[in-house]
Amino acid sequence: MMSHSADITKAIPGVAGLMSSIAVAALLFMPSSVAQEPEQLPQTLFTNVNVWDGTSDGLSENQRVLVEGNLVKTIGDETLEANADATVVDGGGRTLMPGLIDMHTHLALLRPIQEVETTWDGFALGAMASESMRSFLDKGYTTIRDICLGMPGIARAIERGLITGPRYYHGGACLSGTSGHADWDQVNAPKGREGTFERMGLVSINNGPDEYREAVRWNMRNGASVIKLFVGGGVASQFDPLESVTATAEEIRAVVEAAEGFGTYVCVHAFNDKSVNLALDNGVRCVEHGFLMEEATVQRMAEEGQVLSLQAWIGYKSFAKPEEITGFTAESIRKAKDVHANTDKVMGWVKKYGVETFAGTDMYDSTMVPLVAEDLAVRQRWFEDVEILRQNTSNAAKWLAATGPKNPYKEGPLGVVAPGAYADLILVKGDPTQDVSILFDHENNINLVMKDGEIYKNTLN
Ligand SMILES: [Zn+2]
Repeated sequence: MMSHSADITKAIPGVAGLMSSIAVAALLFMPSSVAQEPEQLPQTLFTNVNVWDGTSDGLSENQRVLVEGNLVKTIGDETLEANADATVVDGGGRTLMPGLIDMHTHLALLRPIQEVETTWDGFALGAMASESMRSFLDKGYTTIRDICLGMPGIARAIERGLITGPRYYHGGACLSGTSGHADWDQVNAPKGREGTFERMGLVSINNGPDEYREAVRWNMRNGASVIKLFVGGGVASQFDPLESVTATAEEIRAVVEAAEGFGTYVCVHAFNDKSVNLALDNGVRCVEHGFLMEEATVQRMAEEGQVLSLQAWIGYKSFAKPEEITGFTAESIRKAKDVHANTDKVMGWVKKYGVETFAGTDMYDSTMVPLVAEDLAVRQRWFEDVEILRQNTSNAAKWLAATGPKNPYKEGPLGVVAPGAYADLILVKGDPTQDVSILFDHENNINLVMKDGEIYKNTLN
């Protein structure tokens, strides 16, 4: 990198001599690590690629994309050149597009909830999560958002390059009331006892606005960029019927206010219509699931510009056969069938009213993670291929950036291929804007994965 003194000598020739002797003297006394800093950041030049930029309706053909350091520097035609020592990747006519983003993961939940409660500790969960993170990268997911059971230490270790994984946004410990969706302690637990998940800091059980406020701030302290709150009943839990409302207006407002104090926002787990409306009435901007919404509520979300986080694979495909889900009780199977019965209708309304959407798989179990990209193909039932791609790139990135000061990745935008954007790129055989399902066959069709300017997978040769 150019030093400031070198810039000044060019700008003011009269002081050039003096400044250069100061610069030389400064260099002599600099620690060697600083003095030897390379002049130029490493470059990678992708040639012969068709670019899907994360937002457009189609591809820009026969392009070159130059990456410098961890950012995209330039996009151009065949005249675009790189430094002599740049790494050159001949794309062979493949599609270069932004890395995929999964906005709803739970990497600490690879084993069934009750098995974790009685068997595992944080060490084992972290080790299991590490395998999943490698798996997400191989499948072209360069960013994930762990929206319940966030692991702050994992986030720090990825950021420092100590473990390999996608960019890791998290919501810290998800917030539930007693008997809410994250109250996973055993059925015979005494009142007020912390279950295993809560002791590990992965969930937080609160009652009353004050407890919720403290829990939000604790998450912020632990590097959460967003807050996840359970407002209504869920499927995999045992004490919250689907029609239940598990937080009060006052509690929701306390959570929203505390999150907004840090410049970020709240995503709620809400299936039933009443819980979605209660959340929206009290300042929530982001709804997860929403599978049991009425048509008027879907329309309301569109009109008010709220965002719906889609879990199409879970609702439409997995819940069609819930008896095959590991660890599901008879009660969870019954709930899953009710959700499945409504999914097609709600997704149709989401498309009809043009609700803002991004996609998160919620494919948490170790049998599901290998299938994550099937979530894109399931959405072909309701959305155009390019809409589906945006749900996993630029739309998702918009809401990651909306976490404001708590966004851990602020150097450039994610989810797009553009000058100044993070170099999170995948090279795909074929044209996913015509058929997203090609992304499911990641072994054959996702030939290169770059995150932060670094190549993590390359099967081109
Ligand atoms: Zn979930």
